Amino acid sequence: MAFDSLTEKLQNVFKNLRSKGRLTEEDVKAALKEVKMALLEADVNFKVVKNFVKTVQERAVGQDVLNSLTPGQMVVKLVNEELVTLMGSDTTEIALKPSSEISVILMCGLQGAGKTTTTAKIAGKLKKKGRRPLLAACDIYRPAAIEQLQKNGEKQGVEVFTMGTNHKPVDIAKAAIEHASKNNLNVVILDTAGRLHIDEDMMAELQEIKENVEIDDTILVVDAMTGQDAVNVATTFNEKIGVDGVILTKLDGDTRGGAALSIRAVTGKPILYVGMGEKLSDLEQFYPDRMASRILGMGDVLTLIEKAEAEIDQDKAKEMERKFRKAEFDFNDFLDQMAQMKKMGGIQSILSMLPGMGLPTDLEIDDNIFKGIEAIIYSMTPEERGNPAIINPSRKRRIAKGAGVNIAEVNKLMKQYEQSKKMMKQMSGMMGGKGKKKGKF
Ligand code: GDP
Repeated sequence: MAFDSLTEKLQNVFKNLRSKGRLTEEDVKAALKEVKMALLEADVNFKVVKNFVKTVQERAVGQDVLNSLTPGQMVVKLVNEELVTLMGSDTTEIALKPSSEISVILMCGLQGAGKTTTTAKIAGKLKKKGRRPLLAACDIYRPAAIEQLQKNGEKQGVEVFTMGTNHKPVDIAKAAIEHASKNNLNVVILDTAGRLHIDEDMMAELQEIKENVEIDDTILVVDAMTGQDAVNVATTFNEKIGVDGVILTKLDGDTRGGAALSIRAVTGKPILYVGMGEKLSDLEQFYPDRMASRILGMGDVLTLIEKAEAEIDQDKAKEMERKFRKAEFDFNDFLDQMAQMKKMGGIQSILSMLPGMGLPTDLEIDDNIFKGIEAIIYSMTPEERGNPAIINPSRKRRIAKGAGVNIAEVNKLMKQYEQSKKMMKQMSGMMGGKGKKKGKF
């Protein structure tokens, strides 16, 4: 997960600070020097790091932090606040016209950055918000790109407008808007061609579209894995064609995360969303405060709650709650629950959002644990799954054999089941469609 190593380093610095009780100016200086190293190692832009450390240092001295009761905490608070400022403070939405008019979004970026995937992800988000999007295939160089957009559009239930590869992108864009107007669609998202590197032809093509079509939002898609290159790409695109916002993809990967911390400060343009995986639902709104919280290892509970709300089938959740209350929870429900967890991005992704879970980078909890459990449950008869109480020692032996595991594994699962049942019963009072929980924590 991005930022793991940065989080670990920052947590060590802060642990040292907190353990000191009283702090001298020298202590703060030494700690900030380590923060600086950690940020540089995370591939944050050098100038950004320099300014960041200077600001925190000045505020720490200026605000009488050193004489406060908990100076270590105060420094962490300052670092947190400055990280939030660095990433833009507020969340920026894609600016759209009222639903009665057609808004046009121009998607641009280098090849492989994740533009086509992100275009479909955005369409899905807008659809959920009640908009009626149309995707327009303006990449006339790679027929495969058109096909990919069509496939993704189909998955999202969003129409894709294409004219093949024999028309100019600007003409396709105009025709798409015309088509939207005739078909009562109100957001046109133009998926344009990328190149492997910044290239004059690509820029000229984008400029031509911008000069001839009224664009409401120009969104640049950049790959977080490319670190400072992503920042340079953003700077160039912004200078050449003007960018309104950036979407940073592949933040789920093993990136050091420097791009997320540098883009806003270097280009002045906000990050709108972050790509957190290859699935079309893996796009998260960018909240600078939540991201800072994640970076500092303080968790991101709000995003976790929203993910659960988006992914979990409400009817199923209600039914599950009823079962919990009555303690009817069985192994079929266990399977269902595992499926839900997978949908939410798997254990690692869920853990990374929980406070205090600043996971050591070498700890790999992979979703193979699910596979072992699934194998055991699938070896049970439907009757056993629905009524685990009947699973006696001889049945356990048969199940273990069927799943190809030791009987101890089956016993472990039975024990987990009993514990989950107990815990779910206790938790059931706290669950159930209470609607969105918003606000800071
Ligand atoms: P394009 O050339 O810019 O249109 O890029 P694509 O949309 O074809 O994406 C390139 C590759 O990156 C594909 O394999 C995508 O599945 C993958 N990808 C896109 N966004 C993400 C993301 O947020 N996380 C991960 N892990 N992969 C992504």
